[in-house]
Amino acid sequence: MAYEVIVAGVGSMGAATCRELAARGVPVLGLEQGALPNPMASFAGRTRAIRLSYSEHPDYVPLLRGAYARWETLGQECGQQLLHLTGALYMGPETGELFSGALASAQTHELAHTRFTAAELQREWPQFNLPENFVGLHETQAGYVLSEAAVLAMIESAQRHGADLRSHEPVLDWHANAQGVTVRTSKGEYAASHLIFTTGAWTPEVLCDLPITVTRQVLGWTQPPDLRPFIADQFPVWVIDHDGPGFYYGFPHTPDGSGGPGLKAALHCPGALTTAAAAQREPLPADADEIRAVFARHLPAGDGPLIEQRTCLYTNTSDGHFIVDRHPVHDRVTLACGFSGHGFKFASVMGEVLADLATDGKTDWPIDFLRLSRFGHSRKS
Ligand SMILES: Cc1cc2nc3c(=O)[nH]c(=O)nc-3n(C[C@H](O)[C@H](O)[C@H](O)COP(=O)(O)OP(=O)(O)OC[C@H]3O[C@@H](n4cnc5c(N)ncnc54)[C@H](O)[C@@H]3O)c2cc1C
Repeated sequence: MAYEVIVAGVGSMGAATCRELAARGVPVLGLEQGALPNPMASFAGRTRAIRLSYSEHPDYVPLLRGAYARWETLGQECGQQLLHLTGALYMGPETGELFSGALASAQTHELAHTRFTAAELQREWPQFNLPENFVGLHETQAGYVLSEAAVLAMIESAQRHGADLRSHEPVLDWHANAQGVTVRTSKGEYAASHLIFTTGAWTPEVLCDLPITVTRQVLGWTQPPDLRPFIADQFPVWVIDHDGPGFYYGFPHTPDGSGGPGLKAALHCPGALTTAAAAQREPLPADADEIRAVFARHLPAGDGPLIEQRTCLYTNTSDGHFIVDRHPVHDRVTLACGFSGHGFKFASVMGEVLADLATDGKTDWPIDFLRLSRFGHSRKS
């Protein structure tokens, strides 16, 4: 079969891209090294937080508005609600980056939000135990996406639209020239007009010299004695400043099990440096301590035995922004990587961005701030 585009890596961004290309009638081959979907990929762990209040860069917000709409559409297509707008609550000192960033973004983009003093926070959400100087901002249009279900839905949609998706077929080597690309896998060789790399934490193994690092991250679910105060109709996605770098965040309990078995929390901060091949996937004793620390300190009624843990990988850039661009040397190759621990929520719209880049060489979505050239990787003429 003649393919127009080959997508290397059918995870969060790759599945979205295959779906979008196939829906446009573009002959696409998606090559995935693991199962479809791959439980080792970075969307594992049932849920990913989604929010509009991005203070990190103003151009994320239009992308996010596009992503929200596309999560809704995908949910309608697959017959399962994937986007759950429970609201999100950001808590920390008034002058801290977390609260002030969320507030600035909410004001700039006119997002529905409510501010809470420390006393109001305690009255509204007595589940939290917070220092006296912590205030809160509640954002209405935020919540979570069922990430594993969403990737499965994108894979199935891509296949329904005619995408050729292959599991257990790693891309081992590739070549590009002015006429096209060739890709060698464990099972054969394929040619196409364009190649897109959406290989996540494995990207350094297929593309050298990109300014990205891979870190080991852990997620966990506790089983508190009473889960009722944490159910999504009264309990939001939450984010709490802490003394060290990064912040803690967690999710409401989902009685239908779609978000996992108990109460989920994690630390958002790049963990130990690793590689996808060498990463220690088994839980370490310190992992449980990291997760339970936030419950002990800020959510005591949510503490309990850790009943499930997952180890996933972040692929980080030095500025925390993604890399979405043409390859610096090969015009027929597009890269999307470095999603730096906050990329999943964008996957639904990234499919469209990457399909545009592969088929038209440009996109109307605002992605200039995600170009590789910001790191000094200039395109050769
Ligand atoms: C613990 C944790 C918590 C997170 N929390 C959030 C959150 O709350 N909100 C949010 O928006 N984001 C969050 N993220 C980030 C988000 O999940 C990632 O940014 C996103 O999943 C990355 O997508 P990706 O497509 O780049 O990688 P992946 O989804 O990992 O996909 C890469 C795929 O490529 C395949 N592959 C790799 N190499 C090859 C090859 N040579 N041949 C064939 N296939 C290959 C892999 O097997 C994999 O399936 C979190 C990430 C982690 C790890």
